[in-house]
Amino acid sequence: MSELTTRAGALDAADELAGVRKQFVLDEVVYLDGNSLGALPANVPGRVEDVVLRQWGRMRIRSWDESGWWTAPERIGDKIAPLVGAAPGQIVVGDSTSVNVFKALVAAVRMADADRDEILVDATTFPTDGYIAESAARMTGRTLQPVTPAEVPGALSDRTAAVLLNHVDYRSGRLHDLPSLTAAVHAAGAVAVWDLCHSAGALPVGLDEHGVDLAVGCTYKYLNGGPGSPAYLYVRRELQDRFDSPLPGWNSHAEPFGMRPAFEPASGALRGRVGTPDILSMLALEAALEVWDGVRIEAVRAKSLALTDFFLECVAAYVPEGRVESVTPVAHSERGSQVALRCDDAGDVMKRLIERGVVGDFRHPDVLRFGFTPLYVGFADVERAARVLCEVLR
Ligand SMILES: *Cc1c(COP(=O)(O)O)cnc(C)c1O
Repeated sequence: MSELTTRAGALDAADELAGVRKQFVLDEVVYLDGNSLGALPANVPGRVEDVVLRQWGRMRIRSWDESGWWTAPERIGDKIAPLVGAAPGQIVVGDSTSVNVFKALVAAVRMADADRDEILVDATTFPTDGYIAESAARMTGRTLQPVTPAEVPGALSDRTAAVLLNHVDYRSGRLHDLPSLTAAVHAAGAVAVWDLCHSAGALPVGLDEHGVDLAVGCTYKYLNGGPGSPAYLYVRRELQDRFDSPLPGWNSHAEPFGMRPAFEPASGALRGRVGTPDILSMLALEAALEVWDGVRIEAVRAKSLALTDFFLECVAAYVPEGRVESVTPVAHSERGSQVALRCDDAGDVMKRLIERGVVGDFRHPDVLRFGFTPLYVGFADVERAARVLCEVLR
C-alpha cells in the first residue's frame, strides 16, 4: 500500500461528512461528474412515486392546495436559501438557469438609471449566459461588453447598467471574488447579477452578506436535484419592489386567480415566477434537498478544498511530469470544487477513464474536468482516480 493510500484511509476516517454518502444511490464507480449531474439521493424515488401515484393519481386537482403544489416555488426557494447565505423570502425555484439569466439581466437593466447604456458580461462565461446577455442587450437597447472578471473593475463606469458574472468558471474551476467584485459594481452605481451554478452547494456564497442584487443558479449540479431540475432566482429584498420581470406570467400576478386582463405584480420574490411550475421535477428537488439537513456548508467547503488538494497531490505523485497541467488555481481563495487538467488527447483519455470506472468529463478542446462533491466523494476515491489516470496516460 502506498503512502497516499494510507493517507486517504486516515482522511476518510476523520471526515465528518463521510456518513452522508449513504444517503445517495452510488456504486463502485468513482463519480467525479457531480458538477454536471449530481448523484441520486436515495429518498427521491419514493417521493416521486408518492407525488405521482397519490398526489396526482388520487388527489388530482386538490393537490394544488392540499399537497402544497402552488406554493412549492417559494417553499423550495427557502430551502435553498441557507445554502447560498440568503434569508427567507428572496428565492423562487422554477424555469431553467438560462431563462432566469434572462429575467435577472433584463430586470437589472430596468432597475438601473435609464441613461446607463452598457452591460458587462463575463467573457469566459458558460456560453448560454453570453447568448442570453447578447439578446437582453439587443432587446433593452444597451451595448454588451464582454470582459474577463479581472477586467471588470477597470471596465466599470457611469455608463454601466448591469454586470453578469459567473461565481466559479465552469471550465477552469476558478472561483471569482464575489464580495469585492460586487462592491466594485455597486461603487460604480450598477446592478450585480451572479450565476451560482458551480458554487451553490459546494462553498458558502453569502448573497445577503455581500449585498448581491440578483442571482441565479441550477439545482442539478451540486444540489443533486436531478436531470433538468428547475433553477432558482434570488432577488434581494430591498430590490423586490423594483423587480420588473420581462416575463410577467399569471403566476407572478398579485391575484393569479383574479384572471384580470392587466398585469399587476405580486410582492416579494414571487415576482420571479412565470407560469405553472414543473411540479414533478420540483418536488423531486425538494426531496433531494433533504440530504442537506444538518450539513454545514462551511464543512462542505473545508472538505472540498481538502479533496481537490489531495487530488492535485496524487496527480503530481503518480502522473509523469508534464503529461497534464492543472488550469485550476492553487490558491484556495481562487478555487471552486473541481480540478481541470489540460491534456493533449483529453477526449480520448476521458473515454478510457470512464471505461475504467472513473467518471469525469471532457470540455472542448483539451480539458479533463473532475468535480468533487463533498457529500459523496471520499479521499480513497480521489486516490483511485489519480491512480487510474496515471495508468491511462502511460
Ligand atoms: C450549468 C450552467 C448553466 C446551465 O443552464 P441551463 O439553462 O440549466 O441549461 C448555465 N450557466 C452556467 C454558468 C452553468 O454552469
